[in-house]
Amino acid sequence: MRIEIISCLNDNYSYLIFDENKKIGSVVDPGEADPVIKEIEKNNIKLQYILNTHHHYDHVGGNKELKERFNSKIIGFRGDKDRIPGIDIFVDNNQKWVEENFEFEIFHVPGHTSGHICFYFYKEKLIFTGDTLFSLGCGKVFEGTHKQMFDSLSRLKNLPPDTKIYCGHEYTLQNSIFCEANDSKNLKLKNKITEIKTRLKKGLPSIPTVLSDEIECNIFLKAKDVNSFSKLRDLKDNF
Ligand code: ZN
Ligand code: FE
Repeated sequence: MRIEIISCLNDNYSYLIFDENKKIGSVVDPGEADPVIKEIEKNNIKLQYILNTHHHYDHVGGNKELKERFNSKIIGFRGDKDRIPGIDIFVDNNQKWVEENFEFEIFHVPGHTSGHICFYFYKEKLIFTGDTLFSLGCGKVFEGTHKQMFDSLSRLKNLPPDTKIYCGHEYTLQNSIFCEANDSKNLKLKNKITEIKTRLKKGLPSIPTVLSDEIECNIFLKAKDVNSFSKLRDLKDNF
């Protein structure tokens, strides 16, 4: 399975995931259609599915155009069936999707929105986390409670440490400033920030990140309980 990272809108990432031999694939969170179409045509892929982590415009903005153009099916959370544009297939928490070599499990992770899901490709050990877990940060709590967001992040934290994280935005550098301000003695964090800056300077995405790095460096994953998590989230909202 190959993954191409596609920049959308200002700082969104969409991901084209495909089988290079069979020339079939899917896209995760197309914030807009044009850059995704370019990548699909470049690789000559038949776009079977559009996967949405949540209903926000910057993650579903390309849904309808891509669906019409490539005759693809849109997969999203059942609870969001009335607000994901063009949705065809409803999925539920813990559901496994198995189709040829395209296998994933759905994690329902409420907090950022009530219907947010992650797509966990357990064979490849990678997960698309949308706006729930970012590199060195986490999503704002818009529709859920801090407890829900904390529990959702805890679930992600329990994945194998070498799991690769593909998130919805390039927020890493801004996030790193907040982590550093609250965790100034963390050497591992300092090294990660150096790596991130090198990648960004070359015009490369800071994504994917690895779960073990996030557990050691991401201040939100380091929070031991809901209280400390809530405090951090509030601080960051006003940072
Ligand atoms: Zn969002
Ligand atoms: Fe977003």
